[in-house]
Amino acid sequence: MQEVTNIKSDFPILNQQVNGKPLVYLDNGASSQKPKVVIDAIAKYYTEINANIHRGVHTLSQKATDAYEAARKKLQVHFNAKYDYEILFTKGTTDGINLVANGFTSFLNEGDEIIISHLEHHSNIVPWQMLCERTGAVLKVIPMNENGELVMAAYDELLSDKTKLVAVNHISNALGTINPIKKIIDKAHKFNAAVLIDGAQAAPHIKADVQALNCDFYICSAHKMCGPTGVGMLYGKEAWLRKLPPYQGGGEMIKEVSFEKTTYADLPHKFEAGTPNIAGGIVFGVAIDYLNKVGFDSIQQQEKELLNYATTELLKIEGLKIIGTAKEKTSVISFNIEGCHPYDIGTIVDKLGVAVRTGHHCTQPIMQFFNIPGTIRASFMFYNTKEDVDALVVAVKKAKMMLL
Ligand SMILES: *Cc1c(COP(=O)(O)O)cnc(C)c1O
Repeated sequence: MQEVTNIKSDFPILNQQVNGKPLVYLDNGASSQKPKVVIDAIAKYYTEINANIHRGVHTLSQKATDAYEAARKKLQVHFNAKYDYEILFTKGTTDGINLVANGFTSFLNEGDEIIISHLEHHSNIVPWQMLCERTGAVLKVIPMNENGELVMAAYDELLSDKTKLVAVNHISNALGTINPIKKIIDKAHKFNAAVLIDGAQAAPHIKADVQALNCDFYICSAHKMCGPTGVGMLYGKEAWLRKLPPYQGGGEMIKEVSFEKTTYADLPHKFEAGTPNIAGGIVFGVAIDYLNKVGFDSIQQQEKELLNYATTELLKIEGLKIIGTAKEKTSVISFNIEGCHPYDIGTIVDKLGVAVRTGHHCTQPIMQFFNIPGTIRASFMFYNTKEDVDALVVAVKKAKMMLL
């Protein structure tokens, strides 16, 4: 494993002061920072090969097309998809979920059921509610327990022949719970329901194998994986992608257009209307290479150590309560301090250079379950260190003293 201090130096943004204090970045659940290789690759693209793709015969266009398609290939290999055309570039997780939810409009009838879970991000709730409104389908929710774990017995009860689709996250962004998605997928398939996995929070930490999981859709965002914003991936099984209608109409997604009839392009272009985020797609590939170079074993080992250390140290603070205590958990710690509003703690620790997220984390139903306005969330990446945890603990202690 590369020394963590060395790894941190891959990220130029981390080497700065905020409010006169060294920056301690613990808001990785919202977006990760970018290593220099990723930042440089963006400049390199625009300096050397920028051109529109899949269009011109000229050399630059060919180079840009080749680089874009090579990135698709990298994603295919990384997630072990069977075919490269099962990998679609999107704007991000939200975009990918909406693509599938829109496509399902023509497949659903009144009374059909969609199952999600209590642990979902708003972007894996609202598109399904909108789909239900369009079709008369009914939304069902897998409940969770006090630890923030899904109640699998209740899931068994919800599944039936009416279930057409199950959409759950791999890892909860608010609580860090790692969900038993393989079990969830297998159970759904017994009822011939499709399964969509929101992998936005998992992809930076776990290398998912979509064939082993046998999921129908797996979705993530580059910006949480050391890549740029505005680009993401939707993996879909070939059979589903062939069945789903296009999401948007326009250039690039057609075979032939006349005013009488238009035929659609083959996969994956059927779903990629218009000029995409070319630099984003290419650099997403660079980010994937970077993560694999660090290695997912090293990533998980470092993050596990950080999670254990931070949990132990934070719990030494009197009145501090961790929300989300699942047995299977990734490096996310949501907490509250008795008598303090999360927003006030967040504001004070920021003055001390520590960046955490405060609020509902786009998961209001989880906050309603625990009957809290929000939490303070520290979320770690492999480039964080024990010193970062120490800085967090000191800052939280100071904030508590000032507020109580
Ligand atoms: C961040 C996140 C999303 C939304 O991702 P965008 O990049 O904002 O589209 C969805 N689900 C989970 C679990 C997330 O963590």
